[in-house]
Amino acid sequence: MYGIYIHIPFCKQACSYCDFHFSTNQKLQTDLTSALCAEIESRQNELTTDLDTIYFGGGSPSILTNTNLSLIFTALRGSFDLSKVREITLESNPDDHSAAQLDFWRSLGINRLSIGIQSFIERDLTLMNRAHTAAEAGDCVVNAKRAGFEKLTIDLIYGIPNQSLAEWEENIRRAIDLNTDHISAYCLTIEDKTALSHQIKKGDLIEKSDEDIEAEYLLLCKLLAAAGFDHYEISNFAKPGKAALHNSAYWSGAAYVGIGPSAHSFDGHNVRRWNVSNNAVYTRAMHQNNPNVESEMLSEMERFNERLMTLLRTKKGFNYSSESKKLQVALEKNMHELSKSDSALIVCHNRNIHIPETNWLFTDRIIRALILA
Ligand code: SF4
Repeated sequence: MYGIYIHIPFCKQACSYCDFHFSTNQKLQTDLTSALCAEIESRQNELTTDLDTIYFGGGSPSILTNTNLSLIFTALRGSFDLSKVREITLESNPDDHSAAQLDFWRSLGINRLSIGIQSFIERDLTLMNRAHTAAEAGDCVVNAKRAGFEKLTIDLIYGIPNQSLAEWEENIRRAIDLNTDHISAYCLTIEDKTALSHQIKKGDLIEKSDEDIEAEYLLLCKLLAAAGFDHYEISNFAKPGKAALHNSAYWSGAAYVGIGPSAHSFDGHNVRRWNVSNNAVYTRAMHQNNPNVESEMLSEMERFNERLMTLLRTKKGFNYSSESKKLQVALEKNMHELSKSDSALIVCHNRNIHIPETNWLFTDRIIRALILA
């Protein structure tokens, strides 16, 4: 099974914490769309099995004009067989959820929205320079359901400076009350050279302590478990049977084709390639039929380490029984060398290692200790 990821590198405004590849200059949108269509057409022979999922990420895909989004779907339909596609996700922002817009997305075949709510509190949204209001955060899911979307996931952020634990609890409870089948929650990371990192360096904001962040994460796990969510990946929670298909395939090492500036692709074996992270350069390269691509061939050990890193963040864990004998021995050596306390944090049965959810706060440390050098 294959997935297609399409990167839409435009946003209305820059969120203060963001270091993704995007531009707030919409003038390039039409030109870049024709470059995306050219890339889609040029890569139609890369799929060797059925196309299963399509994911529009960004950036803010919901900012695309209807004309441009239609052109991308026309290119997709002309280049790939979409008849077996089970999930087409579009990342959307709450301020883009007008009734007419939602109806249009549905008419194209988009059947899942990943909505960047982040917080229901106006002060948090202002602090993060989000483009939407608290009222829009509250209304967007209701509007999407009214338009007929059944697969909805919402993103929340914890670790927000100045937000109390009680406010975080209120955010989680509001999210639960919206009755979506999936919730993703990410810790606010302070990336270098972002507006947020400048504010913290200047002392205008104080970064949350590790203890506060841990308390927020544990509260999240507790409340979502009580609401019937399965915590299937460290940042992802789904009602039974509602895990994200595209992301789950990505974590399990499936092949995907990445379209658009900065998008990565993986052949499912050992070749990774990525497009240039510059809208103008990408657009020019595609129009000249001379893609600006870099690639690398991953060694057996690098692939092993990637699988270890992504799968130890999942509930299923990492089954290493089909790895080469040499890598199995090396991993088991690292497992034996874990400290007694770290060793107690993992469970290994029939060559399947997993970290129980109660120990996920220590995942990064365990991965660092197990990774092969
Ligand atoms: S909407 Fe998303 S991609 Fe755009 S600036 Fe905000 S966090 Fe970054």
